[in-house]
Amino acid sequence: MAVNGTGPYDPDNIFAKILRGDIPCKKVFENEWVLAFQDIAPKAAVHVLIIPKKPYVSFIDFTKSAPTDEISGVMKSAGQIASDLGLDDKGYRVITNAGENGGQEVPHFHLHLLGGQSLPPFPV
Ligand code: 5GP
Repeated sequence: MAVNGTGPYDPDNIFAKILRGDIPCKKVFENEWVLAFQDIAPKAAVHVLIIPKKPYVSFIDFTKSAPTDEISGVMKSAGQIASDLGLDDKGYRVITNAGENGGQEVPHFHLHLLGGQSLPPFPV
């Protein structure tokens, strides 16, 4: 069920639990800014979720609340992950869902990195 992307941060959301190590994930990448892991229900051959380590609910919350060095760190990390996965010359898609109308299910800001195949026309 889609969530309200403007509410207060819920520290018991599933990605908060993954960050705490309370539930496992298939980790792809980690640095000081982000954790990236395989989506549990992949929508493409490559479907990686990239989440900031700090608690932001949505894209707007992240861009309003995070300091510039963190925004830069998260976005550069996403680019590095896409490149490390060999997607540069093949094409890929980066999206974020926000709030009820955006179809966001997990209320911790995240980027979906999709690729590894020819993707259907947006939206997937
Ligand atoms: P949203 O709709 O919030 O943008 O996307 C949430 C994503 O998280 C979905 O693609 C869903 O498959 C994924 N997801 C939900 N629960 C888990 C989980 O426990 N582990 C992992 N790895 N992915 C999850």
